[in-house]
Amino acid sequence: MPSLANYRIVNVSHETHNTFSWQLTPWSGEIFDFTPGQFVMLHLLNPDGTSQAKKPYSIASSPLNKKYLELAIKVQGNFSGQLATLRTEDLVGVEGPFGAFTYQPQKHKQVVMLAGGIGITPFISMIRYLSDAALEDNKIWLYYCNQTEAEIAYRRELEELGRQNPNLTVTFSVDRCLIEGCPGWYGEVGFIDSSKIEEHIGDYKDKYFFLCGPPAFIQIAEGIIKNHNVPPEMIKKEGF
Ligand SMILES: Cc1cc2nc3c(=O)[nH]c(=O)nc-3n(C[C@H](O)[C@H](O)[C@H](O)COP(=O)(O)OP(=O)(O)OC[C@H]3O[C@@H](n4cnc5c(N)ncnc54)[C@H](O)[C@@H]3O)c2cc1C
Repeated sequence: MPSLANYRIVNVSHETHNTFSWQLTPWSGEIFDFTPGQFVMLHLLNPDGTSQAKKPYSIASSPLNKKYLELAIKVQGNFSGQLATLRTEDLVGVEGPFGAFTYQPQKHKQVVMLAGGIGITPFISMIRYLSDAALEDNKIWLYYCNQTEAEIAYRRELEELGRQNPNLTVTFSVDRCLIEGCPGWYGEVGFIDSSKIEEHIGDYKDKYFFLCGPPAFIQIAEGIIKNHNVPPEMIKKEGF
């Protein structure tokens, strides 16, 4: 059963110029069990500890990490802007876990993850889990799209995990290079398309497709996948 509890911010990291991550620990008790891909409702608290407002945020940490819960937040509007003003030792309300956008290693042996922008967060949890749990019979291809190189959150960690883990293939893609040029860029350039995905995953057969990002990204990615006759039951999606 999802529960609402107070969590303390124990660490704040800047992932990019507009995205930060928090490590959170429960004020009392332990972190709840969850499945990679699930999200929490994050509550901003009033001075008296009551909930002021709430929004959903995917969990970025691995379920095997019992030390802290990690969230990554892109500053976009009012709520995330208020979250950005909080500091270590501040308290927030965490309610969860929720959601069915989940990675189940027994079932999802081969997964292509298509991430748009901050839609990377549930995949970070899944990829960390792949490594933490040393899942040797599972394969993940991550295709991670951003407008610019500067917006790639968790870049160093993903590069490192991709190097270490033969079951993980990481591809970054940016679309702004076409206009601005990106010296030294080794990833893909331009919008996501069928042939670019195919180049990195081999073929579309017998693979699950997990899509996460803004609704427009999901729509394009889903269109590409459906053109390859991937059955609907092998497609999972979460729009942010
Ligand atoms: C299941 C789920 C998981 C999620 N996980 C994450 C996560 O891990 N990390 C994350 O960062 N987000 C995540 N989100 C999104 C998150 O819940 C918030 O929606 C997000 O932080 C934006 O909220 P906000 O109040 O800051 O922005 P909003 O105020 O809702 O603004 C959102 C966008 O609308 C624009 N906008 C707002 N008002 C106007 C206006 N009047 N005119 C024109 N444009 C306007 C803003 O500029 C901004 O681009 C998730 C969402 C879902 C559903």
